[in-house]
Amino acid sequence: MVELKNVSVTYSNGVDALNDVSLRINDGEFAFVVGKSGAGKSTLIRLLLQEIEPTSGKITVNGFNLGKLKKNKAHKLRRTIGFVFQDFKLIDTMNVYDNVAFVLRSIDAPIKYIRNRVPYVISLVGLKDKAKAYPHELSGGEQQRVALARALVNDPQLIIADEPTGNLDPTNKIEILELLKAINACGTTVMVVTHEHELVQYFGGRTISITDGRITFDDYIG
Ligand code: ADP
Repeated sequence: MVELKNVSVTYSNGVDALNDVSLRINDGEFAFVVGKSGAGKSTLIRLLLQEIEPTSGKITVNGFNLGKLKKNKAHKLRRTIGFVFQDFKLIDTMNVYDNVAFVLRSIDAPIKYIRNRVPYVISLVGLKDKAKAYPHELSGGEQQRVALARALVNDPQLIIADEPTGNLDPTNKIEILELLKAINACGTTVMVVTHEHELVQYFGGRTISITDGRITFDDYIG
């Protein structure tokens, strides 16, 4: 779950990027967060990535109060979230298998678990035949599938996707969102931040709109 209570962010240049934002995305929900460029979407993501702190207000993610989270406990929260980005952020020198396995190796997961879990999530995103391919040998849609597998491999409670379809063609945009919907249907909470209104209209569901740093709509569409 993601909960913001009266959260405001004022940057050092005086810009109010978020203004008294309150929202709650419950466990198991799928929610779109939409807004035009400059609305405050990246600021929201940066708060959830803990790159910045709010000027005021309280943020809770998967039961962790971010304001009270000690630095040496931050990894515990981090392991409950899978992030997906517009530019995929894959490691170019590693093949698909290693890009996904890397996450588990970096937390010293047991080798036996890695050998079972990695092929499983790679098949889940439809890339069973591409496990040995390198990122440059894959299409944009396939690269985003690898990024999704990497986000999923840790079995997170929550997936946060920041403009996940921004670099994809229309067919792949729909396929990636269908995959995120399928992941959600298996119980993972999914939050998709996007400026692509048509896509949100196409899929429907809970939609939270941010305009000039404020929530101006939070309801189900479609
Ligand atoms: P979005 O992701 O929806 O395009 P942002 O969160 O990036 O919106 O920006 C919200 C507002 O905050 C904009 O007015 C933007 O110019 C401003 N802003 C974003 N990042 C910074 C920063 N690091 N310093 C100052 N102002 C910023």
